[in-house]
Amino acid sequence: MNFLEERIVKDGIVKEGNVLKVDSFLNHQMDVELLDRMGKEFYERFKDKPINKILTIEASGIAIACFAAKHFGVPMVFAKKSKSVNIDGDMHVAEVESFTHKCKNQVIVSKRFLGEGDRVLIIDDFLANGCALQGLISITEGAGATVEGIGIAIEKGFQIGGRVIRNLGYHLESLAIVDDMDPATGTVKFREQMK
Ligand code: 5GP
Repeated sequence: MNFLEERIVKDGIVKEGNVLKVDSFLNHQMDVELLDRMGKEFYERFKDKPINKILTIEASGIAIACFAAKHFGVPMVFAKKSKSVNIDGDMHVAEVESFTHKCKNQVIVSKRFLGEGDRVLIIDDFLANGCALQGLISITEGAGATVEGIGIAIEKGFQIGGRVIRNLGYHLESLAIVDDMDPATGTVKFREQMK
């Protein structure tokens, strides 16, 4: 097991409805040493790519993306969730369905911070059905920028997102892939990954 898998086994909580709670170290209370290590690991996996910007989506992707940005030495931009219907032309917009909140959000990124020629590493905390990622990919490509790679902390391998995104040809790296989890026993099974 790698450092993130070990932490999930130690402190993650398996909830009903295919939800893994990691709020004691990743998305409510945050272990910044762990986040820094994750940022470094993303750097190791994508350092050969000409990345000049990290993109994520609020809220829980932000901290991980910050640490990745620190290791790459590039800015981090996060897509904001917006309720506003009249978004002006200064924004890139995509529609994203939330897995955890079961609602649709428009997500926006200012054209001042993402545009033609940008080479983007997309980072997020979880990959489930892939809606959040599809929104970030659409914003990136709609801006005329290039998706150089996608880094995910925890992929739920039993949901379709990972397969869909890889089939589309994107270079997707997940630090932990959960292939099975059981709310009755609390057990989590990880996919073996090549290192
Ligand atoms: P997707 O768009 O891939 O279906 O879901 C990804 C988003 O939903 C992530 O940004 C994450 O915030 C949230 N999410 C999905 N599954 C889980 C989960 O099992 N636990 C937590 N804490 N968040 C999740």
